[in-house]
Amino acid sequence: MMGMLDSFHEEHDELPERQQAAEFYAKYQAKEILGRGASSVVRLCVEKDTGREYAVKVIDVNGDVNPDSQEARDIYDAAMKEIQALRLLAGHPNIIELHDVFISPAFLFLVFELCRKGELFDYLNRVVTLSEKKTRIIMQQLLGAVRFIHDRNVVHRDLKPENILMDDELNVKVTDFGFAAMLTDEQQGLTDLCGTPGYLAPEVLRANMYEKQAPYGKPVDLWACGVIMYTLLAGYPPFWHRKQMVMLRHIMEGQYSFASPEWADVGDVPKDLIRRLLTVDPHQRITAAAALQHDFFQIKTHLDVHVAARLRLKRSLLLVRAVTRLRRLRITPQPISRVQVQRDPYKIRVVRKMVDVAAFRMYGHWVHKGEEQNRADLFQNSLKLEMKTLMHSQIKVN
Ligand code: ADP
Ligand code: MG
Repeated sequence: MMGMLDSFHEEHDELPERQQAAEFYAKYQAKEILGRGASSVVRLCVEKDTGREYAVKVIDVNGDVNPDSQEARDIYDAAMKEIQALRLLAGHPNIIELHDVFISPAFLFLVFELCRKGELFDYLNRVVTLSEKKTRIIMQQLLGAVRFIHDRNVVHRDLKPENILMDDELNVKVTDFGFAAMLTDEQQGLTDLCGTPGYLAPEVLRANMYEKQAPYGKPVDLWACGVIMYTLLAGYPPFWHRKQMVMLRHIMEGQYSFASPEWADVGDVPKDLIRRLLTVDPHQRITAAAALQHDFFQIKTHLDVHVAARLRLKRSLLLVRAVTRLRRLRITPQPISRVQVQRDPYKIRVVRKMVDVAAFRMYGHWVHKGEEQNRADLFQNSLKLEMKTLMHSQIKVN
């Protein structure tokens, strides 16, 4: 692996893109921040010559670390690997396009096509759950990108709603190849623990628990697709527990369910695809190519059957939302008493949903802009922080 990087560095020295940071600023005007990562800031920028807008990921190699440290080298190497992967994967409509690159020893500037609608994660926060139809559109694009990535022997390793961006037409763009691994002929398996806890495949965890364990590979991305698809339809992730160890155990055992009310109106076909994606044994897990052939993407077979159910769900969700608004100032996760529920069984479904909604708020998904912010500040900061570290912070241990 190291050898491959070395040769890439040498090769890259010859490339014309090797320019100083000043050249980036000569060519582009940097604007507001669009997002942040562990060692990067992403800003809107305008290409001066054309007036076109892009997103620039500025990677600060020496940020908080000693310039001569291993960490600084790791950040630099990871960025170079990301560039290499992006070049290898150029040309697919659902993979982010790298428009320009500037490399200096301390800063790297990756200029990307702009995704105005931001992260799928934010979109999901706004709408809470997606219809089967929208889920189909997104999953088809996502799996199409994954098939393309895998065909080129790359494993993304960090697929999650924050790394899936959307353009004006709600086209999906897979981004953040910072953890991507290129499989070579000698190295068809990976062993390092990296990714984001809630999306980690069981075999990644297993590869790190036992001495003699088979390395992992492409199927980890399909597992992550399963976590994403589940989250899109339910509004909460399949594996989540306050205690990270418990969550990781559930992942390794493939312990998740379709028991909550969110799933009552979801058809068997999408559930079947989720089951095939969230299959613990990576050899049994469905591939991207096979997933694209799944009945879920053969629209006609089941669409109309669920339209009525979908409408029902939508109405109940709206009701729940209205009730939630009224109860906003309450911090307890179960705002309605048991007696009340027993007296009025008609409401049970709605109540169960509310409990879920309350739990959902714990995930930090329920934070919206404006008026809800105060409430959020009241009780959510700690939970949000916890969730961030548990579900959405990346980990990498070599
Ligand atoms: P990191 O590797 O540090 O996580 P990402 O590449 O994931 O960095 O970018 C961090 C965040 O910046 C993304 O989650 C997203 O919110 C925003 N972002 C990145 N690229 C773009 C883009 N092309 N258009 C709009 N927003 C972007
Ligand atoms: Mg990211």
